Amino acid sequence: MLIKTTSPEETSQVGWLLGDVCQGGETILLEGDLGTGKTTFTQGLAAGLGVDAAVVSPTFIILREYDGRLPLYHFDFYRLEGTGRAVDLEFDEYLRAGGVCVIEWPSCAPELVPDDYLLVTIRPGELSTRELILAATDARHQALIDALSAALAPMTPA
Ligand code: ADP
Ligand code: MG
Repeated sequence: MLIKTTSPEETSQVGWLLGDVCQGGETILLEGDLGTGKTTFTQGLAAGLGVDAAVVSPTFIILREYDGRLPLYHFDFYRLEGTGRAVDLEFDEYLRAGGVCVIEWPSCAPELVPDDYLLVTIRPGELSTRELILAATDARHQALIDALSAALAPMTPA
C-alpha cells in the first residue's frame, strides 16, 4: 500500500490511524533515512494508542516505553549497529508483552527483527512530500493495512 503525505501533520495522522487499529502484539518496522519522518510517524501512532506523553526520538537510549490503551515500546536500533546478538534476550520479551513495538532502523540489528511485522518505508519526495510504503509479512499485520486503508478511504477524493 502506498500513501503520499504532504506535511508532517499528515504523516502523523497516518500514524494515528494505524495506532488506532492496533490490537496488541504488533511489530512495526520503520525504514527511511534520517529526517524522513519515522519519529513523526511514531508520534502520531502513539497518540492513536492513547499515549498522552510527548514521544521523542529514543536514539540515545535504544528504547522508550509509553503507557496508552496498549503499551508502546519505541525502539531505535541505530546505536546497535555492529553489536551482534548480545542484547537479544530481553528484546524477545517486549515482542511477547502484548503491546505495540515500533522499531526505527531495524536494518541496524536484523538479527533482532522478528519474522512477522508491518514494514513502513518512508521515502522523501519534493519539498515536504513523503511516500509511505506499507507491507506486511502475515495476516495479522495485513489486517492493519486493510483497516488503515478503510479508514483512509473517506479522506481520499474520488
Ligand atoms: P526520522 O525519525 O526519520 O529521523 P523525524 O520524524 O525526526 O525523522 O523528522 C522528520 C522531519 O521532516 C521533521 O523535521 C518534519 O517536520 C519534516 N517533514 C517535512 N515534511 C514531512 C512529511 N510529509 N512527513 C513527515 N515529516 C516531514
Ligand atoms: Mg527518529
